[in-house]
Amino acid sequence: MIDFTLSEEQAQLRDLAHEFAEKEIAPHAARLDETAEFPREICQKAWELGLMNTHVPEAYGGLGLGVLEGCLIAEETAWGCTGVSTAMEANTLAECPIIVAGNEEQKKKWLTPMIEEFLFAAYCVTEPGAGSDVQGIRTTAKRHGEDYVLNGSKMWITNGGVANWYFVLAYTDASQGYRGMSAFIVPREQPGVVVGKKENNMGQRCSDTRSVTFEGVKVPAANRLGEEGSGWKVAMTAFDHSRPVVSAGAVGLARAAYQHAVRYAKERETFGVPIYKHQGIGFMIADMACAIEAARLLVWQAGWTIDQGRRNTQQAAFAKLFAADTAVKVATDAVQVFGGYGFNKEYPVEKLYRDAKIYQIYEGTSQIQRLIIAREIFNR
Ligand SMILES: Cc1cc2nc3c(=O)[nH]c(=O)nc-3n(C[C@H](O)[C@H](O)[C@H](O)COP(=O)(O)OP(=O)(O)OC[C@H]3O[C@@H](n4cnc5c(N)ncnc54)[C@H](O)[C@@H]3O)c2cc1C
Repeated sequence: MIDFTLSEEQAQLRDLAHEFAEKEIAPHAARLDETAEFPREICQKAWELGLMNTHVPEAYGGLGLGVLEGCLIAEETAWGCTGVSTAMEANTLAECPIIVAGNEEQKKKWLTPMIEEFLFAAYCVTEPGAGSDVQGIRTTAKRHGEDYVLNGSKMWITNGGVANWYFVLAYTDASQGYRGMSAFIVPREQPGVVVGKKENNMGQRCSDTRSVTFEGVKVPAANRLGEEGSGWKVAMTAFDHSRPVVSAGAVGLARAAYQHAVRYAKERETFGVPIYKHQGIGFMIADMACAIEAARLLVWQAGWTIDQGRRNTQQAAFAKLFAADTAVKVATDAVQVFGGYGFNKEYPVEKLYRDAKIYQIYEGTSQIQRLIIAREIFNR
């Protein structure tokens, strides 16, 4: 049996997220883009409604929702503004390694407070010299008795400036390559954690992206997730959970751009008819609608697969690749539909065009998604 109908609970969740996006996110999107102000109050309202940290298991105080439910929420909040949804979803990425690899004590210590208090967390893997090539990171964690001491710099860390704790990937034994990496939770208040300036990004400008440097930061061995040497696997497994959710954000952005394009194509007239009646515009909008549906189906498939307890690495890469490309193409074409007005900040699609690009870069670039897909095809 195949059924694309959402359950009553899923539909309610999606509607709640949409209403929130319509009332609390979208009206602020242009201002937040202009000021690049972090959307703390909006995130707090989302947290109060239970729209953040949704995958934290019930045993640790959370709703224990699946990845598919996370995707339903992310599409709606991203429809409102992807800068805000990225700020909301960065918690998901940071929490995933604990859900996947944390022990009981670690889950209670780091996940439960995310439900009880309004907190942020960040996922720190990328470094100034290594993004796609994770093995190229330089951060080290040296064991000293019951502690580890971390040294190194992370770059492009979403929620870097607001996080209460960081998931950090570091080498405990660099001679072992990726098998020598270990994963740690580092509290923000630990001496030696240095947070850089907020980066002045092209899009998703209200999202907080910074460098985070660890200068001789001491953490207890109890903060290591999994065994020594398992860090790379822990960090990468998290992407199977988070990539469908990020991809859903790309679908939400594409849907917003498409809706603006449809509205404008009905209003704007050239040569005596609304522009959608010109085949060049009508076909462009038909292609948008088709790609958005296809992207959403890939996203749902990737989320559903992992929620069934099955490996979804290839489906998550399909979803990320296709949804990111869809967001960029649809936003680009929406600017085209608007003509000169599309190039202007007074109209909404210019922002969407800038916001869309990051989906082809973060959470693994589009080239890396193709590498993953090819590896799945030929090596498994
Ligand atoms: C706004 C923003 C937020 C981010 N948030 C986070 C975060 O929260 N946590 C985190 O850890 N990181 C984060 N990142 C980092 C992001 O994941 C990396 O930027 C991304 O993985 C690419 O790494 P890089 O920038 O070092 O580019 P590089 O790896 O240097 O790649 C440069 C180019 O080469 C291509 N390339 C590289 N290797 C190959 C290959 N083998 N085959 C084909 N092409 C290749 C890439 O696709 C890219 O086009 C964020 C980045 C940005 C911009």
